[in-house]
Amino acid sequence: MPSRFICLHGHFYQPPRENPWTGAVERQPSAGSDHDWNARVARECYRPNGQARLVNARNETVRVVNNYARLSFNFGPTLLSWYERAHPQDYARLLEADADSCRRLEGHGNAIAQAYNHPILPLCQSADAATQVRWGLADFEHRFKRRPEAMWLPECGCDDATLRLLIAHGLKYAILSPAQASRVRPQGELAWTDVSAGGLDTRRAYRWWSGEAGRSPSIALFFYDGELSRETAFGRLMSDAVQSARKLAARFSQDPPRPELVSICTDGETYGHHEKFADMGLAYLLYEAAPEAELEPVNFGWHLAKHPPEWEARLGPGASSWSCPHGVLRWSGDCPCGVENGGHARWRKPLREALDWLRGRLAEVFEREGGSLLREPWAARDDYVWLLLDPSPQRESDFWRRHLRRDASARSGEARRLLEMQRFALYMYTSCGWFFADISGLEAAQNLKYAARAIELAAQACAAALEPEFLRLLALAPSNDPAYGDGAGVYRLLARPAA
Ligand SMILES: [Zn+2]
Repeated sequence: MPSRFICLHGHFYQPPRENPWTGAVERQPSAGSDHDWNARVARECYRPNGQARLVNARNETVRVVNNYARLSFNFGPTLLSWYERAHPQDYARLLEADADSCRRLEGHGNAIAQAYNHPILPLCQSADAATQVRWGLADFEHRFKRRPEAMWLPECGCDDATLRLLIAHGLKYAILSPAQASRVRPQGELAWTDVSAGGLDTRRAYRWWSGEAGRSPSIALFFYDGELSRETAFGRLMSDAVQSARKLAARFSQDPPRPELVSICTDGETYGHHEKFADMGLAYLLYEAAPEAELEPVNFGWHLAKHPPEWEARLGPGASSWSCPHGVLRWSGDCPCGVENGGHARWRKPLREALDWLRGRLAEVFEREGGSLLREPWAARDDYVWLLLDPSPQRESDFWRRHLRRDASARSGEARRLLEMQRFALYMYTSCGWFFADISGLEAAQNLKYAARAIELAAQACAAALEPEFLRLLALAPSNDPAYGDGAGVYRLLARPAA
């Protein structure tokens, strides 16, 4: 039995792409010959990883394997709802892989949950962050028929409040970038070691205490191997599985006092979409090269149960992420991350401020109008995900019996409209809207479609006229593309026509 454990984690995700008026994904010409980006990435990555080819030296297929059975993974809930409809057999392979891993690893499954539609949690209003976590948990339980042990934090966006939220929801661990740790120490010792400039040992789990060490609620943290993860994502590490097994093996210490875990964490799309054939490299690594090098693929949950943390770690001040060295500025302010062709990111902050203003008005509408229909509007919003997951008449009547006020029993249609308004108020914060180069990009325009639909539903509910002020605020967000001018132009030319 080798005591050198490895864990590769794939974060499989794309933003929701459905037109909020029709529920359909429209043709996206930039996806080439595929109908849209969901379809393209499914063909190049999600499906091949469920039946990856192991080939011999003559490139003949000798075996077909399910990579997800040996890969720690999370899939975005909104992507899974599309995948389930578009590719039901491949979707079933994901569920089978998780069940397989539970059998192999004593009940610890490879799948973990994700905050529902991928917002940057530290930037969310606290009620929204809580709903995102609850919807993510509900979605996971609905699909995988068990409680998740962890939740993927979008962009690894994290701060102390986010960890407290995960603890409050019973989650056992989180996965972060090594750059997010600031200091560590063996549990029970007083002196900290500063690791904010590097030097973190990522081969063990750490414990994060919400208050006094040893006495307050806590959660475990795994920090992935930064160098190997970078090489996997950007350096074609999977193009040679034997070489990648050698590199993994070289990360372990000589005769460690206790078993170590080397982990690699990247976007799942690395395996086949960003890098052609990396799904086959991954299969060869997980099923052949790693075992030959006496490396055993496991998942974080199993490792945590077998080897509880003996060290503790603290995060740095403020919020941090894995894809912006400036904290979370990439989704809220002006940093050079994601900027292209000499452009600017001055649109990001006004975009978030415009949405925050809208979010506040939508919350007022929801509390005022929803308060006369629903016993507890915010509790109904938390529960609403169950209706999205299973719209059967039985589920629906249960939902209204629980949440509708007795004097409003005939008004479920109005209540539903308000809950839909809140759904889109959550969707408009999907992080991809800020990630790329401009406010006129597909993803930012998609967030504005959700905003437009939420505004329309508010108008139907109580004749609220939110659009003029929202447009005034969006006009403060300058676009890099003169064809749009600013956020208001994007809203008029790309978002509103979706109606
Ligand atoms: Zn940045």
